[in-house]
Amino acid sequence: MPTKHSRPRNSSPTPGLGVAAAGLCLDFVNTEGVERNSPPDRLEALDLFLDWAIGKELIDATGAAALRRAPDARKDGAAFLASARALRESLYRIFSELVAGGEPEKADVEILDGYLTRSLARLQFVSSSGRFSWRMSEPPKRLAELLQPIALSAADLLRSDRLDRLKECGGETCSWMFIDESRNRSRRWCDMSDCGNRAKAQRFYRRHSQGV
Ligand SMILES: [Zn+2]
Repeated sequence: MPTKHSRPRNSSPTPGLGVAAAGLCLDFVNTEGVERNSPPDRLEALDLFLDWAIGKELIDATGAAALRRAPDARKDGAAFLASARALRESLYRIFSELVAGGEPEKADVEILDGYLTRSLARLQFVSSSGRFSWRMSEPPKRLAELLQPIALSAADLLRSDRLDRLKECGGETCSWMFIDESRNRSRRWCDMSDCGNRAKAQRFYRRHSQGV
């Protein structure tokens, strides 16, 4: 682990891994395109993923450009995307199983554990105004390091009380995961303006087509 003095000061980005970042792992699981708005699968191409990672402040534009320019970017990129998709599938299966009241597969938890173990060397425990949090000690220099904050976010969520509020969207063609923040835990869709409205429209259509 680098010494304090060797760490780049104000290195950016250094995402916090507290409550605010707990949604990162769900955003990652939700990167697989669903029907609504037909978004591209962010893990189909390295450029798509890096743009997403910049948006999530996992890396800045300069760091992403360096990864894109790396000599083996194309070859390494394909292997990276395959491993990122495997992590996404494992996280989805873990969350989905928990939502259904089941027990996650050991193999999926082991994949997550692998990322967590490798992230330890990059972790920095920091305090600010009396609050403590984990941060990555330096910006990612390898593609695989981009997945470590996501794995940490998943571990955060899996160990938190908020796990009780984890849900999978009730939309017929949507499997997005979300945290139900509503007071009475009645939220059913990832987004009321998308899946919620579509479900309402389908119910309306079914009622009227049945002459009710
Ligand atoms: Zn949905």
